[in-house]
Formats: sequence, structure tokens, C-alpha cells
Amino acid sequence: MTNSNTKHVDISNARYDDQREEMEKIIAAGHCPFCRENLHLYHKAATERETAYWTLTPNAWPYKHTKVHYLAILKRHAENLYELIKEEGADLFALLGSVQKEQKIPGGAMTMRFGDTKLSAGTIRHLHAHFLVPDRDDPEYQPVRFKIGSDRS
Ligand SMILES: [Zn+2]
Repeated sequence: MTNSNTKHVDISNARYDDQREEMEKIIAAGHCPFCRENLHLYHKAATERETAYWTLTPNAWPYKHTKVHYLAILKRHAENLYELIKEEGADLFALLGSVQKEQKIPGGAMTMRFGDTKLSAGTIRHLHAHFLVPDRDDPEYQPVRFKIGSDRS
């Protein structure tokens, strides 16, 4: 059996069966799926926008009850917030701010996991921000929950 917690991904935090299957392929290849040279291999959704430091793309596995779920993926490999330079932080806020303005999004959240996936509950260690808008129009609507802290011991 494949080790669930490898250098680049933590499959124990995957939420869907097809996501787990994709993670198995990534683990077998030994890739970081969010590094620029690998992103196109695993992420089928089109790039919505690129800035100097970030790639904006829809999440392939959006959270339940979201109307919008973008990922802003750092263009270089980093796993911790202290690795970010201030230009990357400023560029991220400018990017997500412009998405909110242009798409006239009245409210939502941006989140970013970092570091140890046992604590962050992240699936992919490479830093990426989530831009989330709940789908209040969905008849099955429930509040969107953002999890931190892995289920595994
Ligand atoms: Zn990476």
C-alpha cells in the first residue's frame, strides 16, 4: 500500500475517491502537482489568470456548497508562510481583490493552509490560497466549512 503522507501530498486529507486516485498517480510519479512543470499534468481546469507570482484556477474538487472556489497557486514551490516574500503576499491580495471586484462578489472567504498537513489538513503541501463563495441559491445549501487538523492520528 502507498504511504498516504508523502513528500508532496497527503492523501489522507483527500475528500473524494477520484481525488484519491489522482493522488495515487502523483505519489507514484513523485511529483509536486502544483509546481509549474507538473501543474498541467494533474490539473485539468484552465488557468483563469496569471500574475507575477500566482496562478488562478478553479478548484478541480470544489468544496460542497460553494458557488465559486478558485485556487491561487504560488508559482514557485514553498510550503510555509514564512517562505513567502512580501511581494508575493501583496500580489495575492491584489489578484483576489480584483477577482472580487470584477465578478461583483459581495462576500466570501480566502484561506490558506501551511506547513505540517497533520495540522493544516492540506492535501497538497505547495502553498495555495482558496477563494470561496458559498452558494446560497442552492436548495441543498449548507454553510461551507473549512477544515484544519487531519483526521489521522
Ligand atoms: Zn510544488
